[in-house]
Amino acid sequence: MKKLIVITGASSGIGREIAKRFSQNNHPVLLLSRRLDRMEELDLENSMCKSVDVTDLEKMKEAIREAEEKYGKVDCLINCAGIMLLGHPEEQSFKEWNDMIDVNIKGILTGTNIVLKDMVKRNEGTVVNISSIAGRKTFDNHAVYCGTKFAVHAISENIRKEVASSNVRVITIAPGVVETPLLSHTTDENIKENYNEWKKTIESGLEPEKIASCIEFAYNQPQDVCIREIVIAKTKQED
Ligand code: NDP
Repeated sequence: MKKLIVITGASSGIGREIAKRFSQNNHPVLLLSRRLDRMEELDLENSMCKSVDVTDLEKMKEAIREAEEKYGKVDCLINCAGIMLLGHPEEQSFKEWNDMIDVNIKGILTGTNIVLKDMVKRNEGTVVNISSIAGRKTFDNHAVYCGTKFAVHAISENIRKEVASSNVRVITIAPGVVETPLLSHTTDENIKENYNEWKKTIESGLEPEKIASCIEFAYNQPQDVCIREIVIAKTKQED
């Protein structure tokens, strides 16, 4: 059997496509998110689905340990869970800022904290963090979302350097707009409307399958090749 891949945010959008792709490639997969039914309905071979909030270290630990008992050590952790709550800084609630910081930043740290030490000890393993183009440049109404994604870039690059000598890879994926329900959680209707209008100028975002292909490509390089970062967007996306 191939090695175990853990995917957070596997109930929707990009994470769901990644889970399908790695399962098609005969990897056992651990699917994590809060909506169990959405993951179970995929009915993937050699899969385990657990309803876990990515900010909950103990629950994450439990799920990963259970999967490792069944399928062996985690070879790749793909941190895909995230939320994008766009808002004007004067209008947006503190709760929305707090939620983005919790899920987008702490949510990549829980899994990393659980698997990294063991990967270093084994001299193998890969962590893939889904950041965003919003982790490289700022956009209106994106202040805290951009802040969380800049943090993902910084944390990923710093950890990459510090585990490199142990042959462990840390890969950052920075997509532009992708067609998923990500925007739907933004509460400001005006911002959502303007975003959707702008999206028409690029003739819709990328299909999530394209992001899954990038991750598949980066992961399938030999362990001594680390594709540190992939930035991918629709050609017509100028910013
Ligand atoms: P979706 O909304 O389709 O998926 C988000 C996923 O995150 C869902 O599976 C959701 O599952 C999970 N999630 C959210 N909060 C939590 C939580 N507290 N605990 C566990 N899981 C959680 O969006 P995308 O697929 O687009 O987003 C995936 C990643 O890609 C995000 O990090 C996003 O920032 C990034 N990205 C997306 C872009 C886009 O345009 N779509 C562009 C650039 C980056 P559930 O609700 O069941 O818990």
